[in-house]
Amino acid sequence: MRLVLMGPPGAGKGTQGARLSERLGVPRYSTGDMLREARRAGTELGERARRYMDAGELVPDEVILGLIAEALERPGATDGFILDGFPRTVAQAEGLADVLSARGETLDAVIDLQVPQEELVRRLSARRVCPGCGAVWSAERAGLAAEGARCPECSTPLVQREDDRPETVRRRLEVYRSETSPVLEWYAGTDVPVLAVPGTGDVDEVERRVRERLQEGAGA
Ligand SMILES: [Zn+2]
Repeated sequence: MRLVLMGPPGAGKGTQGARLSERLGVPRYSTGDMLREARRAGTELGERARRYMDAGELVPDEVILGLIAEALERPGATDGFILDGFPRTVAQAEGLADVLSARGETLDAVIDLQVPQEELVRRLSARRVCPGCGAVWSAERAGLAAEGARCPECSTPLVQREDDRPETVRRRLEVYRSETSPVLEWYAGTDVPVLAVPGTGDVDEVERRVRERLQEGAGA
């Protein structure tokens, strides 16, 4: 199956993507992972990506699409793939459709993991990081939300990242929505089914819903 997994920060895309990848036996590609891997491998595309990243600039779509095209050539991707967090724009969605059509392929479905904004704000703003050992904790764990709570691993006082403060989280979510709603609209005008899946509840329950939606909507 060839799938795109979409969802705002905090929706649980990482967890669901990993489970789906395991169950379907297909690789999961996120742009972050692909860029890191290309940098490490020192490929020509990786070098180009590195120059943009070192300059603090966005890596252009053509470089990312090139990395995706390379990834799809590998033996692991013959039965399909899951793209996690890509495409983020209509131009990227069009580029992806071109890469696939050059291979005689199309997407089987776009999964849109949906979680209400206030739930996302709650989830993301509950994160605490440990400046000592780098661990990330959910403050929903007993006691960790309190002022002065310490890391259960190394006892360093925990902090909340600027990015995880409720106002910042709301802004991040707004950016996500304004970027991605045109992408969902674009897919709605194609033959690719867009499968909305509620991402609330526990992870097993969400996984079951994803599986059901795929069976109904994409014949998995
Ligand atoms: Zn720690």
